[in-house]
Amino acid sequence: MIKTLSKADLPLPKPRVSDPEVLAAEIIERLTYGIGKDAKVATPHDWLTATILVVRDRIIDKWMESTRATYANNAKRVYYLSLEFLIGRLMRDAMSNLGLMDEIRQALGSLGVELDVIAGLEPDAALGNGGLGRLAACFMESLATVDIPAYGYGIRYVHGLFRQQMADGWQVELPETWLAHGNPWEFERRESSYEIGFGGGVETANGQNDETRFVWKPSERVIATAYDTPVVGWRGERVNTLRLWSAQPIDPILLDAFNAGDHIGALRESNKAETLTRVLYPADANAAGQELRLRQEYFFCSASLQDILRRHLQQGNPLSALPDKVSIQLNDTHPAVSVAELMRLLCDIHGVDFDTAWEITWKTFSYTNHTLLPEALESWPVPLFERLLPRHMQMVYAINAKILLDARKNRSFSDPEIRRISLIDESGDRRVRMGNLAFIGSHSINGVSALHTELMKETVFADLHKLYPDRINNKTNGITPRRWLMQCNPQLTSLLREAIGDDFLDDAGKLTALDAFADDASFQEKFAAVKRANKERLANLVASRMGIRLDPSAMFDIQIKRIHEYKRQLLNIIETVALFDQIRSHPERDWVPRVKLFAGKAAPSYHNAKLIIKLANDVARVVNNDPSVRGLLKVVFIPNYNVSLAEVMVPAADLSEQISTAGMEASGTGNMKFALNGALTIGTLDGANVEMRDHVGEENIVIFGKTAEEVGKARAEGYNPRATIEGSRELSQALSAIASGVFSPDDRDRFSDLINGIYQHDWFMVAEDFDSYAKAQRDVDAIWTDPASWYGKTIRNTARMGWFSSDRTIRQYNSDIWRA
Ligand SMILES: *Cc1c(COP(=O)(O)O)cnc(C)c1O
Repeated sequence: MIKTLSKADLPLPKPRVSDPEVLAAEIIERLTYGIGKDAKVATPHDWLTATILVVRDRIIDKWMESTRATYANNAKRVYYLSLEFLIGRLMRDAMSNLGLMDEIRQALGSLGVELDVIAGLEPDAALGNGGLGRLAACFMESLATVDIPAYGYGIRYVHGLFRQQMADGWQVELPETWLAHGNPWEFERRESSYEIGFGGGVETANGQNDETRFVWKPSERVIATAYDTPVVGWRGERVNTLRLWSAQPIDPILLDAFNAGDHIGALRESNKAETLTRVLYPADANAAGQELRLRQEYFFCSASLQDILRRHLQQGNPLSALPDKVSIQLNDTHPAVSVAELMRLLCDIHGVDFDTAWEITWKTFSYTNHTLLPEALESWPVPLFERLLPRHMQMVYAINAKILLDARKNRSFSDPEIRRISLIDESGDRRVRMGNLAFIGSHSINGVSALHTELMKETVFADLHKLYPDRINNKTNGITPRRWLMQCNPQLTSLLREAIGDDFLDDAGKLTALDAFADDASFQEKFAAVKRANKERLANLVASRMGIRLDPSAMFDIQIKRIHEYKRQLLNIIETVALFDQIRSHPERDWVPRVKLFAGKAAPSYHNAKLIIKLANDVARVVNNDPSVRGLLKVVFIPNYNVSLAEVMVPAADLSEQISTAGMEASGTGNMKFALNGALTIGTLDGANVEMRDHVGEENIVIFGKTAEEVGKARAEGYNPRATIEGSRELSQALSAIASGVFSPDDRDRFSDLINGIYQHDWFMVAEDFDSYAKAQRDVDAIWTDPASWYGKTIRNTARMGWFSSDRTIRQYNSDIWRA
């Protein structure tokens, strides 16, 4: 027996101090006793691990404090459920938020170790595809910063997003191994384990009061084990938890099979369980649609909900108080099966009656929609859903019956409306509609920019919006200014502090004070010098990784994001080809020297996206080897885009390309990162670009192209791209150059699919927007040639982008949705 004091009497350890000498001593201690290495033979990785462990101790002090306070106050907790968290590296973030950066640098320096060298060795945790996952990571940091008790829940993928390599200009996917050196940030919580079932059937039994209880008897079971990573907010005031689930077998080895000589069969269960959380699906804005994906979704939802209910009950709260003590935000439809799972847990495990359980459920959940693209709307074939989750299928039918009856009886909806509201799509093979399930199971449904939210009301959720007119609201995305300004751009941060003081560090809205300096010649000079230094840093990266030399005095024109037809990297490349042609035809003109930089990954199965990468590389090879444009045009595709690469590219951009087909980008967050760091945006009126224009002022952003409304109209009227192409000499010349193999002499037809697509249907309005885009690019050139005007605009961008801080977004979620 262990005899302990009562829990309230147990003290916390004395908080650690942050003097560089103490830090240095602790780093040596961790190296010796934590890692078992003599400093004399320690590798750079050992130094990194020891340093992280020392930083981590300081986080833990705050973590315990935060958790105890939340418990003591019985405070409401926010749970952010997301299948993706694109967190990147954590050490710099943690040090900077704790205010330890200089002290650690000094401590390491006294030991002969350079902070920047070991920081660069930290793996980039890429447990996400793109914007949606990065938003979840920014939100976690802002939740801690604005002091909201919150947990992020997701999956601890062994392999995050693939590593992208180029082979002769083609994308090749390699497995990514972020856990190869272990992960000093995480704590495995063996005691926080839950059983997760799949398959089997449903039986009935009599409950305590002789009521009928449904009992799911799964045919397969796995264990979900928690791994916790502390997330520290700005100034280290609060530390929240990111809890990621890993799957383990119930029977690690089938000994009977092993002893009978079936050594592979003996590990069947083990392999099957571990497959569940082995890889992140590399699809972005596309429903993965495979059984393993539904298994991943259910696995992490069930584990998270069991954990949430356990904590709620342990705290002594009744289930009826769940909506008062718990808010669960669904990041897209990936966790939508949670709605059915919470119903099952409440009714079948905790004996709550159906109607009461339903009220608890929809009052607890809220749902964020991230895309209107039809190919991204998740739905599962009824037979698959029924086989894997038989009890949840019953719940979906029961919820559906309740909702449709109400719509029909009380609100006289028509048959077509009823069909569209239904949780089951009956139009072809019967499918479960996860978007409708998330909507119906939530009290709040939000879009991620003003435009996107309006389009949501008019398109995907028009009927559900009619049924529940108070539920849809907007929460425009944001980015954390800690990572996307202070850490990625320390020089600009210093300059800003020098000019306007430190207020903006705690409230990004205070950046507006910089407006007063926008036309100040000496400030412009300093701002330009910072930009120049950041461009040199990127040029060094490109030189060392790719052997290409860039001139930092040229305009750095950057488009980095997932490769997708709607994001229109193709429009940018075609304009590059047209510019190449123009420069060669008119060498006498004063061309603005440009470097066109691209980076981004394509989903491995997305043929056209991969072709776009190859085209960028083929165009780069020809352009960069043509002496007649030397010094005027360079094209570079940097491989393996991830958060760490973004942190170098964003501060180095002069021009930010945000050129999606209007109506198709829900918000974008890349757009915000660039503008905050003093880039000019060239963009369409899409997603958050619309609100960026409102904030920075229309004279400080270059807008072109059709509006969402005009795109809709052109499509409805059967727009004819051929006529448009024939009307533009520049465009037709560029298209025929690409189509005829000027950039692919080894395979002249290589790009015919891409070019034919534009001629035949041009779904993404590349041809339609081309002339307007090309003209906008020449307007950009004109601004560039007047540096006072250029820096006046870019400084105003930095000054006016503070509103796009994710702190503001999180505060809005909290005041309108969670009320924590
Ligand atoms: C910000 C970010 C994104 C999202 O970029 P968009 O331009 O909004 O699509 C994607 N990937 C990474 C690594 C990011 O940092």
